[in-house]
Amino acid sequence: MARYTGAVCKLCRREGQKLFLKGERCYTGKCAIDRRSYAPGQHGQARNKKASEYGKQLRTKQFAKRYYGVLEGQFRHYFEMAEKMNGAAGENLLTLLESRLDNVVYRLGMASSRAEARQLVTHKHFSVNGRTVNIPSFLVKPGMVVAMREGSRSLDKMKGIVESNASRPVPQWLDLDREKLEAKVVSLAKREDIDLPIEETLIVELYSK
Ligand code: SF4
Repeated sequence: MARYTGAVCKLCRREGQKLFLKGERCYTGKCAIDRRSYAPGQHGQARNKKASEYGKQLRTKQFAKRYYGVLEGQFRHYFEMAEKMNGAAGENLLTLLESRLDNVVYRLGMASSRAEARQLVTHKHFSVNGRTVNIPSFLVKPGMVVAMREGSRSLDKMKGIVESNASRPVPQWLDLDREKLEAKVVSLAKREDIDLPIEETLIVELYSK
């Protein structure tokens, strides 16, 4: 499974917004974007040029891609799927990204970041409809039940993660049972359920060139 292995805080500084890639640290004064809110690199502080239309489209796509921790090939694949679905391609794209199992685990507060969620899924800590799933890109559908596996619930590490993320709100499209550490997918995520500060139509424009 290919993944980005560089310094993740640089990605936030490049996008000029928090991508929440480092769990709890993102909410503290140690967050790099709070301390150095300019782009990384030698000329990072000098950049104040007005972005071109293409520049805005590119930055929007990069932001979404990095927010969900997806590489270019897979992101484009989701876009192609989104185009074939009914409705607006941009919104469909976000719905697909939200439906990834690693994102669902993160949204349920069972991981501190999507990167951690991806690792926990890979290490077989979660099941879907009673069967262990270790594929972070697995797409959940309405009616499915995502659960932390029984053997994992008693692990101190997992207990600590759940406890430290208990205050994070769970979106309405997921019905979480905090006692059982399982959740039913009530519906697919709609645009209004997704707190992603982007104009997804810019991604559609970029890929439609
Ligand atoms: Fe981004 Fe989190 Fe690093 Fe802040 S601490 S720059 S939000 S990854």
